[in-house]
Amino acid sequence: NNLESEKIIKKTEQYGANNYQPLPIVISEAEGIWVKDPEGNKYIDMLSAYSAVNQGHRHPKIIEALKRQADLVTLSSRAFHHDQLGAWYERVSQLTNKEMVLPMNTGAEAVETAIKAIRRWGYQVKGIAENQAEIIVCAGNFHGRTLAAISLSSEEEYRKGFGPMLPGIKRIPYGDCDALKAAITPNTAGFILEPIQGEAGIIIPPDGYLKEAYSICKSQRVLFVADEIQTGLGRTGKLFACDWEQVVPDMYILGKALGGGVMPISCVVANRDILHVFNPGSHGSTFGGNPLACAVSIAAIDVMIEEELVDKSLELGEYFLNRLKEMTHPCIKEVRGKGLFIGLELTEAARPYCEKLKDLGILCKETHETVIRFAPPLIITKAEIDIAIEKINQVF
Ligand code: PLP
Repeated sequence: NNLESEKIIKKTEQYGANNYQPLPIVISEAEGIWVKDPEGNKYIDMLSAYSAVNQGHRHPKIIEALKRQADLVTLSSRAFHHDQLGAWYERVSQLTNKEMVLPMNTGAEAVETAIKAIRRWGYQVKGIAENQAEIIVCAGNFHGRTLAAISLSSEEEYRKGFGPMLPGIKRIPYGDCDALKAAITPNTAGFILEPIQGEAGIIIPPDGYLKEAYSICKSQRVLFVADEIQTGLGRTGKLFACDWEQVVPDMYILGKALGGGVMPISCVVANRDILHVFNPGSHGSTFGGNPLACAVSIAAIDVMIEEELVDKSLELGEYFLNRLKEMTHPCIKEVRGKGLFIGLELTEAARPYCEKLKDLGILCKETHETVIRFAPPLIITKAEIDIAIEKINQVF
């Protein structure tokens, strides 16, 4: 009997714009890797809010930081200083080994910020003529849903009816260094990419791609900008997915797990020679870098380090991937992943499988029709992965 869930879903659908198609499950409680519906059924969360809940739902240390800060000050705006921002900057700077941080709230806003930084750097530092700057991106990318972010996208579904798009964008195939070389002109200011494409279906580029693309950018004075909003902070078994090829991008774009699944907080991180292009008035956000989000984010980073979530992701990711690879079923086309960022590609639609998994207590979501993404919180244990594998086996 799931009358309560049905009532909630009905109300949600009655008043809400229809821009999502969620699985028919209501989450009313969560703890760690587990979520509960109003009827008391328990599920393992294998999506982690698109990798925003890497530290697990309501991690006690993060919630403690939230409550402590909520009793002091939650919002100052940037019209005044507050006592959490500098400490958070320092933490993010140490984590990324970059000199400067620019805070925003959502991933898409951080992508917007990166685009502005790249363009200004192109004009002020590289010397590109006004309004001529070009940015190169990859087909299949996902950088968010704002107009600038969908202007980068190759997905007709994301763009249709929302034009005109942002000019100055060139799109090349993902994983193709020759295409990158060919696309660069003296007006190219930056190259934005996901080191592993997430929403495209966990697409891992060929070995050596990041390294070579980085060196092409370096030789042509083009900023190499890594959107690590989903792949960063341990998800792929390294702190950043760029670490898989020892590449240090000129700029990181971070979000999601930076707020520990508790507060939205995102940022662009780079050295002073790039981020100095912002001056007072050139960019901002009322909530960007607010005290509550900063305090929560410091705790979220602490948890990631203290609980060695990056190493856990690497180790358990390998275990999970190998267990999934043992499965043989005619409709499984490929299993791929790095760390706890795993895609199971099918020869047919993935949605019915996600629905069946939900009925068995495993929450995951199809991405790009035929791929099931498995990305549990990084605090998951081997025993819990075994529970999930057993259920996944029942569906295949
Ligand atoms: N960039 C990447 C790589 C993402 O995966 C996402 C979200 O899925 C975004 C940007 C957008 O982040 P947000 O939904 O917080 O705006």
